[in-house]
This record gives sequence, C-alpha cells and structure tokens, in this order.
Amino acid sequence: MRDEQNQGKGQEGKGNPRLKPINRQQLVLRPMDVEQLVPEDHEVRAIWEFVGELDLSRYYEEVEAVEGEAGRAAWDPRLKISLWIYAYSKGVSSGREISRLCEHDLAYQWLTGMEAVNYHTLCDFRVKHKEGLDELFVNILGLLSAEGLITLERVMHDGTKVKACASADTFRREERIRAHLEKAREQVKQMGDPRVAEEVGPRVAKARQRAVREKRERLEKALEELEKVRALKSSQEEKKEARVSMSDPEARMMKQSDGGFAPSYNVQITTDGKEKVIVGVGVSQSGSDYGELVPAIDRAEANVGQEPGQVVVDGGFTSRENILAMSERQIDLIGSMGTGTSQSAGQMKRRGVDPSFYPEVFHYDAVSDTYSCPAGKILRPAGQEKRPGRINYKYRACATDCQGCSFRKKCCPQNGTEGRSIVRGVDAPEVAAFIAKMETHEVKKIYGQRGAVAEFPNAWIKDKIGLRQFRLRGVVKVGMEVLWAALTYNIKQWIRLCWRPQWA
Ligand code: SF4
Repeated sequence: MRDEQNQGKGQEGKGNPRLKPINRQQLVLRPMDVEQLVPEDHEVRAIWEFVGELDLSRYYEEVEAVEGEAGRAAWDPRLKISLWIYAYSKGVSSGREISRLCEHDLAYQWLTGMEAVNYHTLCDFRVKHKEGLDELFVNILGLLSAEGLITLERVMHDGTKVKACASADTFRREERIRAHLEKAREQVKQMGDPRVAEEVGPRVAKARQRAVREKRERLEKALEELEKVRALKSSQEEKKEARVSMSDPEARMMKQSDGGFAPSYNVQITTDGKEKVIVGVGVSQSGSDYGELVPAIDRAEANVGQEPGQVVVDGGFTSRENILAMSERQIDLIGSMGTGTSQSAGQMKRRGVDPSFYPEVFHYDAVSDTYSCPAGKILRPAGQEKRPGRINYKYRACATDCQGCSFRKKCCPQNGTEGRSIVRGVDAPEVAAFIAKMETHEVKKIYGQRGAVAEFPNAWIKDKIGLRQFRLRGVVKVGMEVLWAALTYNIKQWIRLCWRPQWA
C-alpha cells in the first residue's frame, strides 16, 4: 500500500517514476565455476592441500565400495577429514551443522564440489577411527617437524577442565542407578516384541530399540564407574555416598576456574616451545594434575619420536614424585613448588596452634639431633616416614613436660596424652637441586614464559574451536574430540607459519 503511494508520487508535471522490476518468480540458469567459489588464498584450500599430503591409507583401506562393482561410491576420506578440520577451525563441531553448511556456504561447497554430505556419514566418521586419528595426529606432527616447527627442546605442559556432556543433576547413588537399570532392561525386552514394530513401523521401532539399548549400556557402565569412584574414597560413609552421572558415567565432578564444580574431563595438552605446536593430548578422569605429567611426556615422546629436553609446568604438576621421575629420565623440569614443609601454617591453624609456637620457633641442634621448644624443653627423635623425594623425621617432647607447661594451650591444644611433635623434612638430592635451580634468575625467566606458550592452545581450543563442553560421551570419544581440536589447531599453526597460496 505504502509502495503504491510512494510510486504514485512523481514530481508535478512528470509521470510516475519508472523502476526496475524485481522478479522473484523467474528461473535462472547460471554457469558456476566451482573452483572460483573461494579465493586463491582461502584457508580451506590450505586445509585440503595439507590433508592431501597425509598418509591416509588406513582410511582408504576401510572403504567398502570398490570400482567396477555395484553399490554407491563412498565419500573420499580426504574430504571428510578436510570437512571436519575446516568446520572445527570455524568453531563448528556438529555434524548436522556441517551438513547444512554444505548446502550454502561457499567454502564447504568448494570442498564437496557442491554436494551435500549426510550428517550420519560425518558423525560416524568422526568417532569411527580412533587408531586412524591417532596416526593422523602423529602424521601431522611429522610434517610440522619436517618444516622445522617442532624441536622438543622445551615443551610446556598444562591441563584444562572441559565440561562433559552431562549435567550435575544426573549424578545418582547406586540404588537409583539399579532402579533405572531394571526399568531399562524391561524396556529392552518390550522393544523386542514384534507387535511394537507393527504399531510404530520398523524404522521407528529400530530407533527406539537402539535408544533403550544404549540407555541400558550407559547404566551398566555407571555401575562399573561407581566402583572406581568408591575405590578412591577413604571412609565407608563416603563410599556409600558415591555417585556417578547416568548420562556420562565416565565424567567426574571437577573444580572449574570460576570456583564452581561441574561434570568434566581433565584435558592435558603438551605444547612445543618453538612455535606452540601441540605435541601431545590426553584426557583424564582425575581432577588433579599431579599424576598427569609422566603420561604426557610418554605421549609426546611416542608422537614425535624423541624425549623433550626440558618441560615447564605450573604448581599443579610439581610434585616430588614428578621431580624424581623427570630427573631419572634426564629431562630438565621447571615448575613452581611451595616450600613443602610437612607442617604447613594451614595444618598448624587447623590444630589450633598459636603462630608464636609454629615449627620455625623451635630450635634444631644438628649435633644432638634434637629440637628445643620456646619453654626450653627438648624434643627427641620419634621415628621417620619415607616419602618419594623426602624423608620426614619426627621429634617429640616428653608428655609430662607439655602437660605441666603453661604454654600448652597455645602450643599443642589438641594433644591429650602425648607431648608436642615437630617434623623435619629432608629432601632427596634431586629435589634439593630442583628447589635451588628454581631460585635462579635464568630459570625464573623461562618459567615466566610458561603461560604464553602452555595456556595459548588451551585458550584457542576453547575460544576459537568452542570446545568448552564436549558433544560426545566417555573417555575414548571425548579424547577423539580433543584430538580433532588439537590437529585442527596444529594445521592452523602450519597455515599461519608456512602456507603460501600457489599463485604467491
Ligand atoms: S607445650 Fe611442650 S613443647 Fe610446647 S612449649 Fe610447652 S613444653 Fe615446650
């Protein structure tokens, strides 16, 4: 209506304006040069070119369609790999979304030659080839190494928590899991009844059968995982209270960077210091990083074929066990570590000890191997405890001295029948050397570079690829998601540092 009014408003003395018609009913046949859909320097060309350099024989061996025989031709593994890598590089991690993008996005259309790839094909491919994907990652590292992007002289290692595909309210105790399992088993039986297929049709019946079967398998897995969780609990009460997620039984509640807790996996990333190439990735169910350093070094060595010369980590990895392990392998470990006294200020506080009676004020006499307390009483050797990288020597005051002491309430308020004790820790030579090394200016400077190198790929994978929460479930599958993200990151590094378009 408004259009008609506008068009009717010609200048006085002139006719109505003559405008080009917009004809949306016409059919147009337009020639299209698929090769020209993306410019010469488009990164999708780089990805296609890079994937073409890789040894994909394992993938081709699994292609069932054979030339000269009947049946549909298969999609080229090079295409499926390139599609996933390009998609991840754009923050797309859904097979359905890739399939949709193949219909209208020029880069995807260039890759597929204007064909649409079914999302089932893409999703199955992403998780089907665990060994193939591991090989692919190693293969890529080989190419990057040949380009001089990896030296392994210095690697930085770090861990980051990525949320699982499960919410906190899916965690249940054993009784509830068993009740759900019974129900799921019953449903599986009912689904086997041929009348169900008659009612809803064979396709729907098959989909429902698969859904209840997967649910039953998940609940059976939940009971297995519950035993693992219980094994880590110390008291019977804690074991009884243990819970696991019914959606992703292998996920664990882990502390997040914002201080909250969420079902997560602990993703471990080892980065080469030269050009920030990822040389190893792993996924752990443990919220703590202490046990992850040795496996991470093993992975980097297996992937690149040599041991790192130096490894830089934060305080989460710097335990005495790891110092000894790295020393034995002659790897130079750099990491932050607390003073590591056996009796920390926190412990003293919890025991109600007044700061004026903390261990530092007790005087040690090396000749007599005794301590003297602020009241002048002697604490004598009372046993020792050997720990990896350290021996803790215990000294104890005479019970009668403490019971009659006017400082007792400040010094050892919780001691009933025993005298006050002190622990003197003696580090193994390797640990003492590590602590001394960490005091030097040169090493502090190297440690200062840790954040920029080790945290860069973690941030990139989360921000650019969008891997803040997994789409898949279970250690193996989330490990594959991480691997796809890591190899995408590495190829992006190669594009940034090495790739030049052919015309250039
Ligand atoms: S309580 Fe025992 S150890 Fe403490 S100051 Fe008194 S005598 Fe010494």
